Amino acid sequence: MGISILRGDITKQAVDAIVNAANSSLMGGGGVDGAIHRAGGPAILDECRDLRASRYGRGLPTGQAVATTAGNLNARWVIHTVGPVYSESEDRSALLASCYRESLRVADELGAASVAFPAVSAGVYGWPAESAARIAVATVRETDTRVDDVRFVLFNDEVYAAFERAM
Ligand code: ADP
Repeated sequence: MGISILRGDITKQAVDAIVNAANSSLMGGGGVDGAIHRAGGPAILDECRDLRASRYGRGLPTGQAVATTAGNLNARWVIHTVGPVYSESEDRSALLASCYRESLRVADELGAASVAFPAVSAGVYGWPAESAARIAVATVRETDTRVDDVRFVLFNDEVYAAFERAM
């Protein structure tokens, strides 16, 4: 598997699947979630609504992942995963690792060969960049998957530098 880090906007990536750092409502939000819905158009939210009505009445649990269409994006699928909110009093690393593992499992189910990840939980959810990057890189390296092109697409300099060190 090839793992690369890129600086920039994940919505511009030409890959089979773009991972969204969603919230459990699947109804959109700020940060990368908002950017993906804006660029992908309403077809993504339509499928998210269907998922809420069928499989995830109480929302997508933290650490899990589910795919929808990518709408107008230059990708076939968006894989939505819900990162944990960072906590100083509780170690939630296993849940953050699960986001990467489960996203790759869903990618395998879809037959996606290339996947772009944002830094899950490293924005509004407050996870320190250094730790978020180490967990992301280590988990992807350890995961047995048929995905052969994993790209971490980082939106800001601090997070990019943390991923560089983690790599
Ligand atoms: P979370 O709620 O999981 O923390 P955020 O979207 O707030 O999710 O932040 C996750 C990371 O995504 C942050 O590092 C943020 O800078 C980054 N981000 C925001 N917009 C984009 C984008 N268009 N492409 C890639 N990364 C983005």
